[in-house]
Amino acid sequence: MMLCQEKVQHGGGGSIKHIKSCFSGSRVFLPVPGVYPAGLPGVVVDIKDLPVEISGFFPAIRPVGDELSQKREDYIEWCEYFMAVAFLAAQRSKDPNSQVGACIVNSENKIVGIGYNGMPNGCHDDVLPWGRTAQNKLDTKYPYVCHAELNAIMNKNSADVKNCDMYVALFPCNECAKLIIQAGIKEVIFMSDKYHDSPEMQASRYMFDLSGVKYTKFVPKRKKIVIDFDSINVSTPKPL
Ligand SMILES: [Zn+2]
Repeated sequence: MMLCQEKVQHGGGGSIKHIKSCFSGSRVFLPVPGVYPAGLPGVVVDIKDLPVEISGFFPAIRPVGDELSQKREDYIEWCEYFMAVAFLAAQRSKDPNSQVGACIVNSENKIVGIGYNGMPNGCHDDVLPWGRTAQNKLDTKYPYVCHAELNAIMNKNSADVKNCDMYVALFPCNECAKLIIQAGIKEVIFMSDKYHDSPEMQASRYMFDLSGVKYTKFVPKRKKIVIDFDSINVSTPKPL
């Protein structure tokens, strides 16, 4: 919020016309003349709604909730950010049925590994099958595909991932649970547990419990995080 020198000099008051010319923010606290400061302090109004015809001196105007000069309150929290990174990575997956992403984070809130489900390096996405069912299991994706957790661990950009947390869209299968345990990851934060009753997930929970790896369901505060590439071009008013 920029205040003009004149306003500062006469103690934060002025006429409506003066208020409109001095405040670059959108809202002001407007004391009620003759009442402030003894009784009802005043009202919060949009500057643009202030009629210039009103005469009088308002002794203690001040800016209110100027969203351009105060910290944003709707920024995403770390945990939302990491889960969103996992979901964004999942969008790289070629799997037509299941897109899963994983994001590994160290104790300093630094991302040290990201992965999504895909075929092994050098095994082209168009050569290996993506189907879930076939007469011959070799014609399904299952013998080939690398899960997001495996890729996130293998893609790590740190010496190891000991004592890190893993954010993952789907509760890990038993094969990934083994990797997570062996890699030293201390906690898994998952979004969905839709295969909770399958033998693979039961085995995962059993192994996590035995090895002391925590697993926590992520409960987001917001349903969606929208990425709008055009938002960066939205102009904000320049300060006076
Ligand atoms: Zn897995």
